[in-house]
Amino acid sequence: MATFDRRTLLGILGGSGAALAGSLPFQAFAWDRPPPYNVEPNPKFTTSPFTLGVASGDPASDGFVIWTRLAPEPLDPHGGMPRRQMLVDWEVATDAKFGNIVKSGKSMAMPELAHAVHVEVAGLQPNRPYWYRFMIAGEQSQVGKSQTLPALGASLDRVRFAAAGCQYYELGYFTAWKYIAQEPVDFVFHYGDYIYEGAGAKFATGDNYGNNPPPLRYHVGNELYSIDDYRARYSQYKTDPDLQAAHAACPWFVSFDDHEIDNNWAGNIDENESPPEIFALRKSMALQAYYENMPLRKTSLPIGGHMQMFRSAQYGDLLNAFILDTRQYRSNQAYFDLASPQGPDVFAANRSIMGDRQEAWLFDGLSRSTTRWNLIAQQVLLMNLLYQRKDSTERVAGMDTWAGYMHSRRRLLDHIDKHRPGNVVTVSGDAHLHFAGDLIQDNGDGRPISAEFSATSVTSGADGTGDQNTRVQAAMSGNPELKAITDKRGYLLCDVTRDVWKADMKIIDKVTEPNGALSSYARFEVEHGKPGIKRV
Ligand code: FE
Ligand code: CA
Repeated sequence: MATFDRRTLLGILGGSGAALAGSLPFQAFAWDRPPPYNVEPNPKFTTSPFTLGVASGDPASDGFVIWTRLAPEPLDPHGGMPRRQMLVDWEVATDAKFGNIVKSGKSMAMPELAHAVHVEVAGLQPNRPYWYRFMIAGEQSQVGKSQTLPALGASLDRVRFAAAGCQYYELGYFTAWKYIAQEPVDFVFHYGDYIYEGAGAKFATGDNYGNNPPPLRYHVGNELYSIDDYRARYSQYKTDPDLQAAHAACPWFVSFDDHEIDNNWAGNIDENESPPEIFALRKSMALQAYYENMPLRKTSLPIGGHMQMFRSAQYGDLLNAFILDTRQYRSNQAYFDLASPQGPDVFAANRSIMGDRQEAWLFDGLSRSTTRWNLIAQQVLLMNLLYQRKDSTERVAGMDTWAGYMHSRRRLLDHIDKHRPGNVVTVSGDAHLHFAGDLIQDNGDGRPISAEFSATSVTSGADGTGDQNTRVQAAMSGNPELKAITDKRGYLLCDVTRDVWKADMKIIDKVTEPNGALSSYARFEVEHGKPGIKRV
């Protein structure tokens, strides 16, 4: 059994209590106590424990988080791991062959966190790539590539990123991730629906699929309620090689939407309106499993059923990225969350999609931002699209989107208009379609205030029918701010330079077959200082 002194253990755990004090309701993690620890002194594996790949995320100008999770049997509740702590070695190098290792250390994989490892690497040079890997008991992980942010305020000419999400495992191959892994991007924004919590086809239909084809691949298990259920679902998704390749390719900023916990949840209210204190139990398990499987900093460790997820990152003097959390603090959806006319509840000043604390943080950040561009990266559509109801004069909106929280929407667009006109672009997702459009105030003069690109799904909705289906046609009629929409799978690619923000709506012809072909559905530009989008 190895022994450690306190200094060694602080080094192993990779953080000091001081950095965390203030952000958490206690002074420091108790992990820096001296032994005894329940450490397995001689770990042995008959198969590799690195079945779930590696990931990096939340970069700073001097480092980033590197992640892996030990799971020789990924679908086992504990990943096939003994119920003991294990020390994992990690290395960060300036080259892919690890000829020049600049940082290395040990990190504890603990059964409480499903043997996940989150190392907050620091002390690196700004604005350059690094490679990382993990080792234990003679086994070695895949090599991941990450990248530090430029130094604060440093001059920067270009930043590129991909936005994607909604990856229902049964409905298609993760081909979008295969292509994203090959894109020359600085980061990925995952807008959410990383997993889907539902039972899946096998439980829903009992092998009787009616007129629908059976799914490509089946969810393991029934609907997710326990932490073991959620863990196994993440493991199943994370064994996908295309998803692993995209994680290994660059740092990600992850955010969750609804399906990481329950369809269309809001604050402490789930889809079925279970008692809030009961839903809170399920939510806290789902959030823990999310943390365990994502490259997040300790500031996002779930505490008391809450995770700190809204955060920002600065790419030199070019781009401030604000990553929002539109789930944990939102008011319940109006009108039973059914597509409804925008009645008084939708405009009520006591209903919010961001919550007061997050709104104040965002508004303050935008007001003080000195970068050329600002990105608002969030989960659900900000465009106020109204759909004509069949055989009726009524026009209805989606109550789960910003169109169901018009007080919040008006305040945000007002703030952008006053403080950062012409340099804010919003990226969102959730709708399983690509959307591109101007953002206009619903009660204003109709001029564009900002722009939105909403990324389509990786697989949710299967192959899709392009721009000829009824939902697409309904969106296009009577919503002049909407410039393009298509029902295909894919991702959004953004290329931001000093004067122009380019957005490319990438689509894949088929996700129900492997290796679907990639193309560009439409390309748009936003010119710096001129709100609104232009097709190119
Ligand atoms: Fe989705
Ligand atoms: Ca969603």
